[in-house]
Amino acid sequence: MAEQNNSSCSSHCGSCSANCPSRKSGIEKLPLGEGSSVKKVIGIVSGKGGVGKSTVCSLLASAMNKEGFHVGILDADITGPSIPKAFGLLHDGVALSEDGKSMVPETSNGGVEIISTNLLLENETDPVIWRGSMIANAVKQFWQEVEWKEIDYLFVDMPPGTGDVPLTVFQSLPIDGVIIVTSPQDLVSMIVEKAVRMAEKMNIPILGIIENMSYLLCPHCNEKINVFGESHIEELCQKEGLELLAKLPIDSQNASYMDAGAVEAIDTKESLKTAVACLKKLIQS
Ligand code: ADP
Repeated sequence: MAEQNNSSCSSHCGSCSANCPSRKSGIEKLPLGEGSSVKKVIGIVSGKGGVGKSTVCSLLASAMNKEGFHVGILDADITGPSIPKAFGLLHDGVALSEDGKSMVPETSNGGVEIISTNLLLENETDPVIWRGSMIANAVKQFWQEVEWKEIDYLFVDMPPGTGDVPLTVFQSLPIDGVIIVTSPQDLVSMIVEKAVRMAEKMNIPILGIIENMSYLLCPHCNEKINVFGESHIEELCQKEGLELLAKLPIDSQNASYMDAGAVEAIDTKESLKTAVACLKKLIQS
């Protein structure tokens, strides 16, 4: 069970007197299914689609797995699920637990446990044409009806934006902190600030920001080229009092690894070291 401020949290606010963030929001978080346990739930969010949220989610999960933690990914980006492909998992159905009551996540080569709608579809290219309420229910099922066995970090690849579905996910799951993924263009339109305000309104701590596609390294002279214009991420972090966890370059080789289902082969030891340190600190709290 993910803990809020209270180590004995049962997520049943009605029978508890602790004054924690989930109570302040007035919404009771969903408990996990029987036998499941998750120490920390990390939401990976973005103000809009296409900034590399799923890529960063996959890289972070893989990085924490390589640090020796037991890691899971709940792919809540129901209509654009790209996590299984990044880890090379096939969409050949998901196994059921012995009692038939819950789904068993698929395990990547490196040992990351993953659940996603794409694992359940007959064809990888089948669209998920569902109303918002159905999408939100699918996410709740992925939380409650999946065997999450002794997970240290469960990364939730959130639906993009600040609409109805991410709102329901924020309200339903006991998220310990969010990491906001952005790109230099995204900042210009200040969409990131909407994601910041949303997390604040939901009383969910923001662990920090990762700027993706931040720059391109010239393969000839190693000069940093600001493809999307100059980044203003440092100013934004200062203004909002947020930690800059990483600036990731545009990297066509990494994109090819992702396409080939080999995200775990990407070396992020240097590029994600601040983010990894932040997550390690969180689990000790
Ligand atoms: P989102 O989840 O925000 O919609 P994705 O993670 O699916 O975005 O990324 C969108 C596309 O951009 C994918 O094809 C991905 O491989 C590519 N991409 C993401 N980050 C990078 C990067 N740093 N360098 C090169 N390509 C990237």
